[in-house]
Amino acid sequence: MSEPTPSAPGPIVVVGAGMAGLGTALTLLRGGRDVVVLERLPVVGGLARTVAFGDHIFDVGPHYFFLDVSDEVNALVKSCVTEEEWRPIDFKISAHIGKHHVPWPPTLEAIRKLPPSGMFSYLLNSFKGTLPDSYIAADFLQTVYGRVMYRIFLGPYLAKKVPTSGGAEALHRDWYNQTARTLDNAPDVVRDKILQVEPKLVKAFMARYPETVRRLNEEREAREGNDEADTRPTGMKRAWQIVSGLARSVTSKTFKKVLYPPGGVGVITERLAEHFEAEGGSLNLKAANVELEHEGHRVTRVSWDGGSVENPAEVIWTGSVHRLCSLMHVEREELPFMTIVLGFMKLKRPLPESDILYTYIAADDIIFNRVYYPTRSVPGLCPPGKDSLCIEITPPDQSQRAIGQETIEKVYYGLEKLGICTRDDIEDIEFMWVPDSYPVYPLDYREKLERIWEGLDKFENLRSIGRSGQFWYNNMARSMRVGIETARDLLGEYER
Ligand SMILES: Cc1cc2nc3c(=O)[nH]c(=O)nc-3n(C[C@H](O)[C@H](O)[C@H](O)COP(=O)(O)OP(=O)(O)OC[C@H]3O[C@@H](n4cnc5c(N)ncnc54)[C@H](O)[C@@H]3O)c2cc1C
Repeated sequence: MSEPTPSAPGPIVVVGAGMAGLGTALTLLRGGRDVVVLERLPVVGGLARTVAFGDHIFDVGPHYFFLDVSDEVNALVKSCVTEEEWRPIDFKISAHIGKHHVPWPPTLEAIRKLPPSGMFSYLLNSFKGTLPDSYIAADFLQTVYGRVMYRIFLGPYLAKKVPTSGGAEALHRDWYNQTARTLDNAPDVVRDKILQVEPKLVKAFMARYPETVRRLNEEREAREGNDEADTRPTGMKRAWQIVSGLARSVTSKTFKKVLYPPGGVGVITERLAEHFEAEGGSLNLKAANVELEHEGHRVTRVSWDGGSVENPAEVIWTGSVHRLCSLMHVEREELPFMTIVLGFMKLKRPLPESDILYTYIAADDIIFNRVYYPTRSVPGLCPPGKDSLCIEITPPDQSQRAIGQETIEKVYYGLEKLGICTRDDIEDIEFMWVPDSYPVYPLDYREKLERIWEGLDKFENLRSIGRSGQFWYNNMARSMRVGIETARDLLGEYER
């Protein structure tokens, strides 16, 4: 069948105004392209938006923007936010293990609180640094963290966090590691060391990205050429390096830096959207019922309630990949997205001061798996003399759509048991359902995804990126990075 040849391509259409969509759209616009963004909600931000419960401000679960992912991403964000909004903070989180709150990942401070066998096996495994061949998250975690840590914390935690998968025994280890992907949806073995232990993936990467491999080799040779002698330590020196590295990591007082602007994480995408519009981009909120039409292997029309684009030059999709498959008549695969429930609480009094931003909870008698303390990120997110709390629940019954008094009682019980607050401290509680919040990786998810891309990659002017678009458990900066790289690829500036 001959492909229709478009005469005058229309603008590039980006579906979704989250981190991935806005990162793509603004980069393309600044590269001189005509861009239309379609967002079905009345606000931008997607999962990374900020919501109000009365005069208390919350994110959609705890959200911290990692600054160690990409300089390019950081530069784009920095070009949009104000100086006051560029506010890096320490990423300090904890886990509730047994009866104790311990820093996560465990540091020396945790030794007094964890069972000695747990800490010992954790340290021993960190020292050995071996990785299992198994794809099963349960095996991976037991090798990396030790059997005891798995039994007392990680196993029960994953059973509670991802009940849809059947727990860590049925979950692919890539989910726990949130392994990196390229803009073409290939496992990114350059950015992710854990993928490098799989020779098949390395070989596939080398075949797909010969230019990248050539560039990396040249860089390595140049580095080695600069060294007068090979200075890589061996023997005792190497052993000492490992031991001292490990000691540094367990005693470390330095934390990853994350961005958290006053006003909430939603400020980041709000500023990107403001710049996008001010610089001439077209942002369409409440763009419901987006439909894609195609002829041959080209998307020829994008329509939504309120408008349409004929013959789009490109379509960048950041919504659910399942929905995209339906629109493009590509066979769907059994790849589940999880719905979570957030409980936003107004507190009558301030909580004790602490710099822990959130805590993981594994105990099976506590209904929530995470509790986050919004006002510890930045003051001013609630009225003076008050405080806020947010808990995250994964309902084992994913079809559940209502919260009864029984669930509320369980939330109060959990908070009291953990010593966070009493029910009398809680002024009000409101729940929010977040569908498509986490993709869940079954053990055969890689094969299933490959089949999806085989179908979707046939369309020459269509890309599917971002968390839902790639069925990728990622973070905000990674979602935005793939958006920027996709834009640069379309601008002819990306070196594969
Ligand atoms: C509870 C929770 C906590 C998290 N914590 C962190 C954290 O601390 N740090 C971190 O970096 N990341 C965190 N994340 C992950 C982070 O939210 C995501 O990686 C990131 O926001 C994904 O951005 P995205 O643009 O790829 O997708 P999304 O945010 O899902 O954006 C997609 C957008 O497309 C729109 N859309 C979808 N379908 C359509 C359609 N058919 N038509 C029009 N519009 C459509 C959606 O409304 C949405 O606005 C967390 C996620 C969750 C759920």
